[in-house]
Amino acid sequence: MKAAAREELFARLAELNPHPKTELVYRTPFELLIAVILSAQATDVGVNKATRKLFQAADTPESILELGEAGLKRFINSIGLYNAKAANIIATCRILVERFDSQVPADREALESLPGVGRKTANVVMNTAFGEPTIAVDTHIFRVANRTGLAPGKNVRVVEDKLMKAVPGKYRLHAHHWLILHGRYVCKARKPDCPQCVVRDLCRYRAKTPTT
Ligand code: SF4
Repeated sequence: MKAAAREELFARLAELNPHPKTELVYRTPFELLIAVILSAQATDVGVNKATRKLFQAADTPESILELGEAGLKRFINSIGLYNAKAANIIATCRILVERFDSQVPADREALESLPGVGRKTANVVMNTAFGEPTIAVDTHIFRVANRTGLAPGKNVRVVEDKLMKAVPGKYRLHAHHWLILHGRYVCKARKPDCPQCVVRDLCRYRAKTPTT
């Protein structure tokens, strides 16, 4: 996709939603980190339902350690893969207390050293909690980047690297949320809503859904 089209694509997404936000509910970087760990292969709605009660009971590494793994599981057992996620969260809380003064670190290397935190989770936390212009490529962003021709690639890392070059600088901070929301609600996996899509004329997807 040419530079002018990329600029126009983001200008339109930005006009629709000037201040895009994550749909995960959180108050602190720590709560965001826990919510993002829980969100792997789960919906934001499901995570929010669980964390609403969890964060009332425990919202710091120390208080989650006090709950213990069994206690934590009681709050998150409606979420997929909760056994593994509980073990990772307990291990992460222990490391935060022991090595990071109970604070969520802002840099990639430190974040990725935490159990349950991969590149995607680190990108979300760096972007959403600390205002870094990172782009966490999830299934929605991967699909939109490929369909539109914005940043085509065979795997998420290729798409991430291409997006970091393709997204105009002034849109990079919010690009992550614009593309996720566009993929979740418009450029849906099974049947994209092309007739209603504001970037339809810029998009290079050959199998666009017809208007009638
Ligand atoms: S035109 Fe269709 S395929 Fe292209 S971005 Fe919009 S919804 Fe997705």
